Amino acid sequence: MFRRLKHIRAIRPSFTKSIMRNFKSLTVKGVNPQSEEVSQLTMPGVVMAPSYKYKEGEVYHGFQCQRIEDVSEFELVSYTMRHLSTGTEFWYIDRNDANNVFSVHFRTPPINNTGLTHILEHIAMDGSNKFPIRDPFLKMLNRSVGTNQNAMSTTDLTNFICASRNEVDFRNLQRIYLDSAFGPLLTYSNFTQDGWRIEHKDVHDRQSELVIKGVVYNEMIGIFSDNSRILRRDLLKCILPDTAYHYMNGGDPLEIPDLEHSDLVQYYNKYFHPSNGRIFCYGSFDPMKSLEYIDKEYFANKDAIDTAFSHIPPHPRWSEPRQIHVPCRLDILGGSREKQNQISIALLMCDRTDVQGTFEMNVLTELLIRGPNSAFYKGLIEPNFSGGFNKNTGYFLRCRDTYFLVGLQDLKVEDFARFNELYEQTVLKIINEGFEPHHVESVLHNMELAVKHQGPDFGCAVFYTSMSLWNHGGDIVANLRVMDNIAKLRSSLKQNKHYLQQKVEEYFLKNTHKLTITMSADESYEQNFQKATQKVLNQKLKNLDSDDLEAIYQNGLKLKEEQNLIEDVNCLPCLTLQDVQEPLKIPKIWDELIQGVPTQLCKVPTNGITYFYSFLNTTGFSEDDIMLVPLFCDIIQNCGTVKHNFRDFDKLLRSKTSGIDLKVKVVENVRDYKQYRMGMLMSTYALDKNVPDMFALCEELMLNFRIVDTDRLRMLIKNYISKLSVGILVSGHLYAIMGAAALVSDAAKLKSHLLGVDHIDFMKNYIQEYSIEEIRDKLCAIGSRVFHKANMRVAINSSEAQQPIVLEHYQRYLDRLPSLEKMKNKTDLHLLKPSYHQYEMNIALNYCSKAFYAVPYLHEDHPGLRVLAKLLTAKYLWRVVREQNGAYGTNARIGYDGLFTFNSYRDPHSTKTLEVFDGCYDWLKELGDKLDEEMLLEAKLGVLQLVDWPIPPGETGLDYFNVRVSPQDYRKYRARALSVTIDELRVIIDKYFKQEPKHFGKCIL
Ligand SMILES: [Zn+2]
Repeated sequence: MFRRLKHIRAIRPSFTKSIMRNFKSLTVKGVNPQSEEVSQLTMPGVVMAPSYKYKEGEVYHGFQCQRIEDVSEFELVSYTMRHLSTGTEFWYIDRNDANNVFSVHFRTPPINNTGLTHILEHIAMDGSNKFPIRDPFLKMLNRSVGTNQNAMSTTDLTNFICASRNEVDFRNLQRIYLDSAFGPLLTYSNFTQDGWRIEHKDVHDRQSELVIKGVVYNEMIGIFSDNSRILRRDLLKCILPDTAYHYMNGGDPLEIPDLEHSDLVQYYNKYFHPSNGRIFCYGSFDPMKSLEYIDKEYFANKDAIDTAFSHIPPHPRWSEPRQIHVPCRLDILGGSREKQNQISIALLMCDRTDVQGTFEMNVLTELLIRGPNSAFYKGLIEPNFSGGFNKNTGYFLRCRDTYFLVGLQDLKVEDFARFNELYEQTVLKIINEGFEPHHVESVLHNMELAVKHQGPDFGCAVFYTSMSLWNHGGDIVANLRVMDNIAKLRSSLKQNKHYLQQKVEEYFLKNTHKLTITMSADESYEQNFQKATQKVLNQKLKNLDSDDLEAIYQNGLKLKEEQNLIEDVNCLPCLTLQDVQEPLKIPKIWDELIQGVPTQLCKVPTNGITYFYSFLNTTGFSEDDIMLVPLFCDIIQNCGTVKHNFRDFDKLLRSKTSGIDLKVKVVENVRDYKQYRMGMLMSTYALDKNVPDMFALCEELMLNFRIVDTDRLRMLIKNYISKLSVGILVSGHLYAIMGAAALVSDAAKLKSHLLGVDHIDFMKNYIQEYSIEEIRDKLCAIGSRVFHKANMRVAINSSEAQQPIVLEHYQRYLDRLPSLEKMKNKTDLHLLKPSYHQYEMNIALNYCSKAFYAVPYLHEDHPGLRVLAKLLTAKYLWRVVREQNGAYGTNARIGYDGLFTFNSYRDPHSTKTLEVFDGCYDWLKELGDKLDEEMLLEAKLGVLQLVDWPIPPGETGLDYFNVRVSPQDYRKYRARALSVTIDELRVIIDKYFKQEPKHFGKCIL
């Protein structure tokens, strides 16, 4: 489970486009498992001119350097070391990247369903020997400018990870994370707060009913209100029944109350030993300082232990396929009751440590399920009897044995048999006919492009894609050599043109470790679950005597008191304002008018890629026309063009570009709140050599898109609607915020209708009301109105050397675009009367939000409000809404749109939470009286984390392009956030919070 930051900031592992790949590690102490031949081939740096910072065989602070390797495609050097007395592996990646990463992880297979490893992950971060206060993790969020601070426990490992671009900060975080891993307090009271406890509903009232509470307990109830999580849980349990994976590492809410504090401490002592851990360091800061600190503080007096106990063997293969059926929740937002069924086939694939094997399975997965040329798309989706692939379709590398799953959602029970038949037919067809060479090439091209394209948090992405492989002792560096993996596959294909077909035969036809899993919505699912939890509680209550009851009452009061205690946080390190004076250096961005098209240009080192963005204005659309724009964005690349049918067009897009992506944009005016714009953002990127093709394909789509086949359109719409309700609960807080904002202004209301929960109902009704021909004509009309140059603004990011070439092709592209009548490019926004809305969802835990209109982004009060939002989150909401009321997450924020919003995530007490939001003035008033410089500094650092968020080269200047916040605006905003004073904050508190706002909305989802 990703821990707390999830709801605050989405983590974007991006360098491999979410394809999980494996890496390489030291499996045998001191022995290089690579053959001589391969290392000569793949380590040009070693053969040509080795000039490394450290030497193989040397010992640095107790760590022996065992392997050094260059990985040229990512311009990095990998050093793998091992601590001599404990045997702990240390992997350092030396790369010229300021965003440094540090992580410690342990192999922690679950031993039952009590959520032991998950609860341990939570409370390890709840105070340690050197930092003996509650939740230093949260407190550090506001004493640091870290770009990642997280802890997670997965099916077989527990990880603590942090990242920062500031070295003082990086060392601070590193000390706290190391102490959480190697010296946590694991107190009983933390166990009851984050794990589980029996407590009075109202702790002060001993007459109130007794219930089970606990952060993880609630978290797990919330997680399993998402049907795709139910499927994944039951799948793992049944496809790997003989290993640790059949236990639910997150915890089954019905079994979490079986966990004892002593079990957890015992597990910690055994599994969190240095010998069972691995340490990762990435970036440009000196790793020797890390080694010295680790050796001196934690490892010096420790000996190695045998860690065979945590080893997870490959699962024995079945001789016969198996089948299961499971119930799930009825989804109120989903389709009709009789179509709320899913069927999936899951197959156990190669071992996680087989680097080339897992790479080739990734390629096969793309060939089988991605895009209209893929085999299962043709075989399973095009017959159009479902709502498309289910969310779990894909290739999974989180366990010792990897597995592949393909499944359909929204189909009738009587169509299960048809799925099975079509599945068999498709597999046989591939084995007989093979894959089209063009298609294979387009997939390999996309993988090469993904290597070059870099996300903002490369170091974290490297870790996340390596951790599982490393955890099982796999070769983490070989896995980084994506170009070698591609070359090996090409060579296998050259020697044997049936190579991939034979893989399909082996993995899909002859594979008897195959599980068919069907799932159907059950109206009484929630009710049954509640009955079962009540039974667990009753069982516990049955054995309690009056002394126990008194202890429960007293413990409840004691915990509440502890939660309310204002702790002295001075044991925690903190940055000073001097440490963060320097704003980010932003490359020069400038605008040119090219053939009448406003064009933003930026020269950045893009690693051989050109990025191309077009904002296509739709502001002049009527409300009726605008409502189909999201559907248009979703399907237009999949319809084909006059020159190419949809399959050929997709193949061309994938063999020359990253694909063309279109997204709906509602853009608030950052200077004047009364205006906004609407449009579509079209984005693509390509290798520099493919720039002419990239423009030609954009031109082809814009001028010659072709929506004619109504059967296909019907299928695309059906799949589009099925996708809408999936995943809403995972980001429920964002939908709740959108729902609350929709009650504040007409612009936000439109946004919710286009992108929020309201869109689902709208689309369901729309297809009832209009014929497919009418919808087709409306979609065509959208295309002809937006795709022309009088309606466009463009941004291009490329390297300095490439820019003249790009501009030449860009000019030619513009030459060929028509210029129709210019549409209006801003529209007035109206504020609405305060109101409240609740979406009926049939879920156990809710998402709440309150939104009110404050000021536009560039108003001088905005940075101060943002500082207040940080204070509210850290000092008020977190304590009351999460710790006391049991919601998994909560925060306050103010965005570009000028809306100040509060939200809660997986919340058992929604009405109470809305009251907490309403009561913030009293708290702020009190805060105003006791606010000191230290609290203010913490909140400012929290704001800096957001404004200084690292931006990858491909996205540099995109904020300016989208919302018109220029680098000068950024610097001004940042300086204002850093200089805001306590007195100014007091004024802002009275100005924006004292009176009930004139325009606000509240929403529960
Ligand atoms: Zn958790």
